[in-house]
Amino acid sequence: MSRQNLYPGGDGITRISDPFWMNYCKKCGHAFWSCLCTVDCPQCGNQDLKRELGTVPYEQIIAERGEPIKPKSE
Ligand SMILES: [Zn+2]
Repeated sequence: MSRQNLYPGGDGITRISDPFWMNYCKKCGHAFWSCLCTVDCPQCGNQDLKRELGTVPYEQIIAERGEPIKPKSE
């Protein structure tokens, strides 16, 4: 896989050509879009989110592309 198609400084797996990630918080139910798959819930800070890239589940993306890199926060 060519890394130049990935978001610079991103999570290491999301490509620029990908759709947004859809995130569903399992704790508070908040749903939101993000460019990367490593964001936490902005409402409650929960890290356990159900994620989909377009219609593809997170688990399938990970299986195909490998584990994401968690960017340093702050
Ligand atoms: Zn939440």
